[in-house]
Amino acid sequence: MIKKVEVIKGCISCRNCETVCPNIFKVGKTSEVISHDYVWNESEILQAELMCPVNVIKVQKDWNFTLSFKEAILKDKKMLTKDILEVTFETNNFTFKPGQYISLQMKDLLWKFSRSYSIAKADVWFFTLTIKLLKKGRWSEFINKLTVWKKITFLWALGNFQLQNTNNKKVFVATGTGLAPMIAMLQKTPKDVEKVIIFWVRYETDIYNKKLLESFENTKVIIKVSQPSDSYIWEVGRVTDCMSEVWLEDEVYICGNPAMVDSFKESLINRWHPLPLIFSESFTISRVYPWFFQDIVYNGNVPWVHFFSWFIIAISLLVIPALWYYFAIHKNLYWDFVFWTTFSGFLWDVSWWSVVFVMVIRPLADLFPKIWLLGKWVSLRKAFWILSSSIVVTILFGWFLLDTNTFLNYFTSHKWSLNSPLISRLSEVTALILLLTSNTFSQIQLGIWWKRIQRLSYVYFISGGIIAGIYAPLKVYPIMSVVIILWILAQLRIKLWK
Ligand SMILES: Cc1cc2nc3c(=O)[nH]c(=O)nc-3n(C[C@H](O)[C@H](O)[C@H](O)COP(=O)(O)OP(=O)(O)OC[C@H]3O[C@@H](n4cnc5c(N)ncnc54)[C@H](O)[C@@H]3O)c2cc1C
Ligand code: SF4
Repeated sequence: MIKKVEVIKGCISCRNCETVCPNIFKVGKTSEVISHDYVWNESEILQAELMCPVNVIKVQKDWNFTLSFKEAILKDKKMLTKDILEVTFETNNFTFKPGQYISLQMKDLLWKFSRSYSIAKADVWFFTLTIKLLKKGRWSEFINKLTVWKKITFLWALGNFQLQNTNNKKVFVATGTGLAPMIAMLQKTPKDVEKVIIFWVRYETDIYNKKLLESFENTKVIIKVSQPSDSYIWEVGRVTDCMSEVWLEDEVYICGNPAMVDSFKESLINRWHPLPLIFSESFTISRVYPWFFQDIVYNGNVPWVHFFSWFIIAISLLVIPALWYYFAIHKNLYWDFVFWTTFSGFLWDVSWWSVVFVMVIRPLADLFPKIWLLGKWVSLRKAFWILSSSIVVTILFGWFLLDTNTFLNYFTSHKWSLNSPLISRLSEVTALILLLTSNTFSQIQLGIWWKRIQRLSYVYFISGGIIAGIYAPLKVYPIMSVVIILWILAQLRIKLWK
């Protein structure tokens, strides 16, 4: 279930969210959540979250949900200028409307992110993009290093910047890689329709696809260079110098640098050009760079979370059982261990603090929803569950393996008698159940029962706490009280907020 959707500071008004989920998002100056009725919109909301290039859509959900993406294989890479790369991907059943873009998905240290690229050429089994490689650009660096035959994932073609199916004269105005959708449109415009292409670049070395543009029939090609070298003999200037090429009944398609798009549109509007005949797409930059603290703490863009989670799981399932076994057979479990008392004591401490983290992080995230770092850490709960419960299960099964009598004794009545023996067993059995079900396979198989079973975590926390409290009351009871208070406050806040 989706509990909350919010758009935090930093929206660049790219409209991806509104395009995929118009019931929930409306983009004016920035994007706004216009409805809190999330039911039946879940899949679109999660797509919008993933497609937001600046990660400012924050969704609070209480289950793990994975969206399926299409895959494409890099088949060809070619530099068109010193910094414009043409890439062709092979895929299947690809459909698009000339002018549209696709949203590419990627994972890196900061976790998942997306970037939008206009489709320059495509057919059912391939698509070609032209990408300006930016220094330190997150996607630019990735695509620059990507080798042929490697896979990428993407969501289908989208966007309302589309070629109109009319016989009107068409004027295409582009800067830099804004030429990409124009090429797709030129290919699909009927030969007998009159076309003008106005293409602007800063230096003449930035010109690309000139021959291709000139190959389209019935097409006037104007290439403007604003900072030419002394030897350049063609047209110098900017796209706005070509307003005389546009007649009032022409369809005008503008794409590229947002400042150029706005200024050309403004010039057209000042000349009373009919608004329904103006179509535009701005290549808004896909990342605003907030300062480090804001990015990590408030925006929750914490690097390494995914790797850290797998690291904890690997430690829990491989390192801890191996170490425990090693210490047990060398009879060192109760000897001094680094600066903790004993290895056994160290393990119980790790198990206890892990379960405290799991119990405390969700109420903290609910109480301080603006601090998205806490929300991000909620995703670490699974790893810490596994860490805590694997210690209990390792010790229990470890003794069973090393000493058969322990196994046989385990089922005698005194081991299950009232008070502390029964509470200990409760903690061990719940640890085993939680360990076995803390994975996506169980989640899918158990369906609605998975969530119910996960509620055993409270039994595990309380029973474990009672047993640990017998040995270290000062370490346990104050923390248990804090967790219970936070939990009550979080429930109250959720009720009041609703
Ligand atoms: C609808 C649409 C279609 C688009 N189509 C195209 C297309 O066809 N071709 C194309 O090339 N682009 C296109 N874009 C732009 C594209 O989506 C990306 O924004 C662009 O490629 C930059 O992405 P990046 O990850 O490489 O750079 P980012 O990581 O987003 O970096 C953006 C800028 O910030 C700078 N930067 C990086 N790190 C830092 C830092 N720590 N501090 C400060 N600054 C930093 C980078 O140098 C770069 O200049 C399109 C955009 C939209 C919205
Ligand atoms: S930046 Fe994100 S929130 Fe803003 S319009 Fe684009 S997708 Fe929507």
